[in-house]
Amino acid sequence: MTPRVYLERDGGIAVIVIDNPPINAGSAAVRQGLMAAIETLRNDDTLEGAVLIGAGNTFIAGSDLREFGQPLTEPQLPAVIAAIEACGKPVVAALHGAAQGGGFELALGCDARVAAPGTVVGLPEVTLGIIPGAGGTQRLPRIVGIPPAIRMICSGERVLAAAALEAGLVDLIATGNLRSAAVAHARQLKGQKRLVRDRQVPPASSADVATATTAAPQAGKRRPAVQAAIDAITATAQVGFDDGLADERAVFQRLRVSREAFALRHQFFAERESAKHPSLGEATARPVERVAVIGAGTMGSGIAIAALDAGYRVLLLEQDAAALERGTGRIHAHYASRVQGGKLSASAAAACEARLQTSLDWADLASADLVIEAVFEELGVKQQVFQRIDALARPGAVLASNTSYLDLDAIAAATSRPHDVIGLHFFSPAHVMKLMEVVRGQSSAPDALATGLAVGKRLKKMPVLTGNAFGFIGNRLYAAYRRQCECMVEEGAWPEQVDAALRAFGFAMGPFAVADLSGLDIAWRMRQAQAATRDPQARYVHIPDRLCEAGRLGRKTGAGYYRYPEGDQGPQVDEAVHALIAQARADKGLQPRELGDDEIVRRALLAIVNEAALLLAEGVAERATDVDVVLVNGYGFPRWEGGPVFWARERGAAALQEDMLWLAQLSGPGFVTGDLRHLLTPEN
Ligand code: NAD
Repeated sequence: MTPRVYLERDGGIAVIVIDNPPINAGSAAVRQGLMAAIETLRNDDTLEGAVLIGAGNTFIAGSDLREFGQPLTEPQLPAVIAAIEACGKPVVAALHGAAQGGGFELALGCDARVAAPGTVVGLPEVTLGIIPGAGGTQRLPRIVGIPPAIRMICSGERVLAAAALEAGLVDLIATGNLRSAAVAHARQLKGQKRLVRDRQVPPASSADVATATTAAPQAGKRRPAVQAAIDAITATAQVGFDDGLADERAVFQRLRVSREAFALRHQFFAERESAKHPSLGEATARPVERVAVIGAGTMGSGIAIAALDAGYRVLLLEQDAAALERGTGRIHAHYASRVQGGKLSASAAAACEARLQTSLDWADLASADLVIEAVFEELGVKQQVFQRIDALARPGAVLASNTSYLDLDAIAAATSRPHDVIGLHFFSPAHVMKLMEVVRGQSSAPDALATGLAVGKRLKKMPVLTGNAFGFIGNRLYAAYRRQCECMVEEGAWPEQVDAALRAFGFAMGPFAVADLSGLDIAWRMRQAQAATRDPQARYVHIPDRLCEAGRLGRKTGAGYYRYPEGDQGPQVDEAVHALIAQARADKGLQPRELGDDEIVRRALLAIVNEAALLLAEGVAERATDVDVVLVNGYGFPRWEGGPVFWARERGAAALQEDMLWLAQLSGPGFVTGDLRHLLTPEN
């Protein structure tokens, strides 16, 4: 086995190299190697100090997360750091790439930190449901003070080298060779130990501490790890370093095996896997520098912003001069507000806008490497647009549609090159939402799909590959969830009760508030279009149709499932809706019954799980865990619950089978039950 850690000599300085590709994760083998190297440093009188450095292009970018769910192998990280502190000789951490989590804690345990420009450091543990467990909550406040430590640890923020230098997190930025700079620094420290643990916690006003301790839980969605981190950080000034360290470790050990930490690790791995597609073989992405976006409406302007932010040159093309002006205005206003809010420098905003070209002349399409169509959702219109694109785009350009529901193959058939056509389904607002579905048509070439996935990554999205089916993965799962919620309202729950139960579970919004926000008429039109082909025996809930017939189309008409009085008061419960629902129940001869919150949540989740099983059986979703990635990143499913597949696997096969029979019975005629086997089998 390749050694994970090896020691080289540069005069009297030991250069301890951590070599655990691809990210030099802090595994058990790395810790053992570090321990042995520190032992050599301590015992070898010819060595006066050491440098810790990562091989390849990063320091220790994170921990080996798979270890966290099991008993930890010795030596554990705190013991390695304790050995560095006790070795009697200066140890300098040389940072490049990323030093995060345990990697940054190791660096904080050294006597100094030298960083290459562009390095990022951070303690993102709370985003995985744990707290730093190797002194991060005790050493960081000794450098930056308690309020900034709370902000940094509770947000899991990544800090760039220049800001890290300013905050004192690193001592020096190496302008030339990092290794040489770190070795020189270690020589300067000869005979000294300059440990963070020996520093006093800088004083902070109680008002500043109070502000930080109030703001962090709000920003961190009140998750337990955030509060635990605050407690550990604020305790350090009172209990002292050693007790603080022991308490921090105990909390870390408890949290790392908590349900929430398992769920968040599941989501982390699901997201990492979602970018890997064995079905695409060796296909490599085509190079993309220039992106054309057709249609400057809500989606087109959002997609353009996302592409500009990612450094692409963007052509925004319209048929209508007024629409182009409105779209350009939206983009301009967006950058102006980010500059005004201090989120972006004026020069960075100007650089983004300078890469934007707007046009009504389709001939400009010729230079695009990727064309993204975002025109009206009508097959005839999209087919015409694709014919025009086909005539003008260069050979090899990837042609993408942002359609939500139309048949991608029917769109591709309008071109002479269906192999170049894929779907890129963004979610609104397109520059904000993480999820992006990459749709595979029957002729889509693997390298065209690989291009879609690569562009998604560069746009900092979470791209998920989906088959070409009505609603793809996300909207189909969501429709099944919403239908089940409508059934529950028909049976006796009020919309506000369903919304409240699902919000309490952790959804960002309830399904009826979401429906009001997006407008009830889209789904209404779809139901009308499907009316002729619907199974007349299947259960059909009329309530949403009745609301639309009454002109209640959601927020935009001031009323939907809720009332929206003038002034932004949010959704208000409306007796008129209760009356309308009561009438709809009476028309069917239904006796309303009380539904508990537990039933509401369980049925809503089971409906998603069942639809996921159907999507997997149909091959629309390739991997069960993609369902979790889609729901968490596109539909406000609580990340800390892991996703519906995580939830289903946790319930176990026997309980879930029983649940499904119960759900099928309650849902009535027309409910199709999926085969749960594939969904319950972990892929790895
Ligand atoms: P929109 O009505 O806001 O914008 C459509 C734009 O396309 C208009 O500016 C229009 O002038 C332009 N356009 C129409 N025909 C054109 C043509 N032949 N050539 C050039 N431009 C043309 O619509 P939107 O909400 O941005 O939706 C666009 C697409 O994105 C649709 O396919 C929709 O299903 C999809 N989508 C929308 C959302 C959403 O929430 N709005 C989410 C995901 C996907």
